[in-house]
Amino acid sequence: MIRVGIGYDVHPLVPGRPLILGGVSIPHTKGLDGHSDADVLMHAICDAVLGALGLGDIGQFFPNTDPRWKGAQSRIFLVEAARQVAARRGRIVNIDATLIAQAPRVLPHAAQMKANIAEALGIDSGRIGIKATTNEHLGFIGREEGIAAMAVAGVDLND
Ligand code: MG
Repeated sequence: MIRVGIGYDVHPLVPGRPLILGGVSIPHTKGLDGHSDADVLMHAICDAVLGALGLGDIGQFFPNTDPRWKGAQSRIFLVEAARQVAARRGRIVNIDATLIAQAPRVLPHAAQMKANIAEALGIDSGRIGIKATTNEHLGFIGREEGIAAMAVAGVDLND
């Protein structure tokens, strides 16, 4: 049976932090703030995969009050999500995600993001879609105060 999950995440953009999206460090005047590396794209994908399993969200697996995850590379969250799928003898069918960022332009980095996410999840990068949009200068994303991501995951659970 194919199960689907949805994920959404947002982090504030602040000076003095690196901007890491999909495991790619992107040159920019600001970066995303958070307990981990604040990779909003990987967090949304992680929630989508966990959601397909009915397991809740990333915060239940990796609480942001736990010093172990301070400054953590978000890759490890995806590795754990994939491990949860494998533990149920399941298979990630596909991931589709959209980044919502007014700036900088992120699409030129999409191929490397896909490669990083595919490696962390242990799937072919052809199973991953990454799209990007601005927020047409509307709201907090439009004012470049934050970046959001949404994702869906399809997981085949053979049940
Ligand atoms: Mg997050």
